Amino acid sequence: MEKNYEKYIQKLTEEKKLLEEEMQSLGRKNPSNPKDWEPVPSVMDASVSDKNEMADLMEDFEEVTATQSELEKRLNEVDAAILRTKNNGYGICSVCGKEIEEKRLDANAAATTCMEHL
Ligand SMILES: [Zn+2]
Repeated sequence: MEKNYEKYIQKLTEEKKLLEEEMQSLGRKNPSNPKDWEPVPSVMDASVSDKNEMADLMEDFEEVTATQSELEKRLNEVDAAILRTKNNGYGICSVCGKEIEEKRLDANAAATTCMEHL
């Protein structure tokens, strides 16, 4: 029986848009590799001479970098899921090959495994 994955495709597309917006607000795309995002180096202002201030900025920078890499990871998952909807691999557990439960997909539309193989 063919499941209707339309709502998940819509969810994934919306999430992708949100993730990209969020990433854009945090950093910029690497012009030579649009898949690779880097934090804006504006916090690395060389005119900052105060050591404490510099440490604060470094902390901010690291935080942004960490958030950035999490967003990037999630975006890759969402992208991969969207790709699967196009080649009929969507909603299939990557471990056992069975259909992923709907409530699992409701919680995470980019899920690659069933509840059993979480
Ligand atoms: Zn499974």
